[in-house]
Amino acid sequence: MKDDITLRLDRATAEDLYATLYQVGEHIAAGAAITPPTAEEVERLGSLLQDLGHRLGRTCSPYCDHLV
Ligand SMILES: [Zn+2]
Repeated sequence: MKDDITLRLDRATAEDLYATLYQVGEHIAAGAAITPPTAEEVERLGSLLQDLGHRLGRTCSPYCDHLV
């Protein structure tokens, strides 16, 4: 489909994404605590969020010039 988005993740980022979604789901469903991410996880998840945002056509900051 022409509106599909493809992201390629390394294993560490995929594990971070899984853990984050799982924890958020458990938090919403049952109020479980969310473990703060490590600095490395923050770095990987931040990159993933930026990449996904760009593929959705969103700018990552007011100064973003990645979308050309
Ligand atoms: Zn950008």
